[in-house]
This record gives sequence, structure tokens and C-alpha cells, in this order.
Amino acid sequence: MTTALLLDVRDLHVSFTTPDGADLHAVRGVSLTLRRGETVAVVGESGSGKSTTALALLRMLPGTGRITAGSVLLDGTDLTTAGEDALRAVRGSRVGMVFQDPMTALNPVLTVGRHLDEVLRAHGGRDRAARRARALELLGLVGIPDPGRRLDDHPHQFSGGQRQRILIAMALAGEPDVLLADEPTTALDATVQDQILTLLGDLTRTTGTALVLITHNLGVVARTCERVLVLYGGTVVEDGPTAEVLARPRHPYTAGLLAAVP
Ligand code: ADP
Ligand code: MG
Repeated sequence: MTTALLLDVRDLHVSFTTPDGADLHAVRGVSLTLRRGETVAVVGESGSGKSTTALALLRMLPGTGRITAGSVLLDGTDLTTAGEDALRAVRGSRVGMVFQDPMTALNPVLTVGRHLDEVLRAHGGRDRAARRARALELLGLVGIPDPGRRLDDHPHQFSGGQRQRILIAMALAGEPDVLLADEPTTALDATVQDQILTLLGDLTRTTGTALVLITHNLGVVARTCERVLVLYGGTVVEDGPTAEVLARPRHPYTAGLLAAVP
């Protein structure tokens, strides 16, 4: 079982129902695989189904969204049919998630220390002092300077980039097998985007966590991800080693995307 896939998504279909009752077929047969420790980028124009795919993996689809076909095997267990308890155990502890806007995931009235403490407790950390030590370690890992003095600060006392680092620390707290990051830096300026995405790449290398990174930043994809998948209209139009896809794009969308990189 040494080469078993960590994640094996097969022919996934997702639909939404529009307000007039029509079927919006957002994800049309996406297949993707991920080995332990592997880093994969998912790119594609807005509306191509990237977020819907990511959310469907953990059955977190909003509104009318539903999986209509396919399977999502995590270590061989199909999450599309798993019970709620099994799913809850997977979210956060096996799969850590980082989303676009840190403020929606952080509670403005709780300190950063409290945020981390609750995540660590949820993942079985029984000893308060050990949780505090781990919280400091995690903040250091994601590059928050002087973490010992920041535990009692609230989210608004940090910059946007630092808040995103805090979310990454929270996502890593459960020592997940996979980090799923959906455009985690869209709200940030270009330099900070680069720093955070590079940090994600570095962290996955040092911790052995696999990474699925949804991003538009092809420069960072080239530096941090071994493989890249291109989504277009809800289907995978490219899937290959990053260097190969970037050097010889097969789909016009990918070629256009590369031509637009300064
Ligand atoms: P991406 O993340 O690549 O920009 P999305 O997965 O957000 O794309 O969207 C894929 C398609 O699904 C789009 O046509 C979008 O309008 C539709 N969609 C996404 N979320 C919802 C929702 N909550 N309700 C209805 N349609 C949605
Ligand atoms: Mg999206």
C-alpha cells in the first residue's frame, strides 16, 4: 500500500439549481488524484468550477449545490457517501482548508490565542499549557513575529497578510494530510500574495502535508507546485507536471493565460 493515492476524485459532477428552476451543471466530470505530500495547483478562469470542486470534496456545497455523480476517495473512503460524523472528523483534521477572506473565518471578538486554542482542543489537545506551546510554535511556523506577545491580540490588530498566516496556522493545527487553499491571497497586494503562497509551498515541503492550491498566480505555481490542473467550463482540460504544462500548454485557455503573464 505504499503507492496508494491519498485523494482520488473520480468523474465528479456537481449541479446547482438556478432561481428559475434550471439545472446549472457547474462541475462536469472532474477527476483528480493526489499522493501524500504532493503539491497540485488548480487554475482556471472565474466560474470554471474551482471553488465548487473544492467545496464538493468535503460536502460543503452552498445553497442548492449537490453532487450528482462521481466519488471522492480519501485514503479509500468515499466522502460522497460517508456519514456526517466521519465527514466532521475529516474536515480540519485530515483536510485543512484556507479560504479567500480571512475575516469571514476569524471571530473578531476572540483573540488569536483563543482561536488557535479552540482548534487545538477540537483536535484533542487536552493540556492547556501544551496547547499554548503548540499555538506559539504554529504562529512562529507561519512567520508571525514575536508570537508570545501576540496571543492576546484580536484579528483586527493584524495586517491582512498576517490574518491569512493565522488562518494557515489554524488549518495546520490538526496536522492534516492535505491543505486545501482556495485563492487564499486574492484580497492581498501582490508582494504579500507572493509571500503567503511561497509560505504555503514551503510549509507543505517541511511538514509533508499535500497541497491543493487554487490560484491565479502562475509564477507561484511554477515555483511551488509539482503538478497543475487547468479547469475550463467545469472540466479538466490539462493535468500534468507544472513545467510541462507551462512549457507546452495543450488548451487555448492555458496558452492565453500564459501569454498574459508579464
Ligand atoms: P470558480 O471558483 O472557478 O470561479 P465556481 O466554482 O465558484 O467557479 O463557480 C462555478 C459555477 O457554479 C459558476 O457558474 C457559478 O455561477 C456557479 N455557482 C457557484 N456557486 C454557486 C451557488 N452557491 N449557487 C448557484 N450557483 C453557483
Ligand atoms: Mg472560486
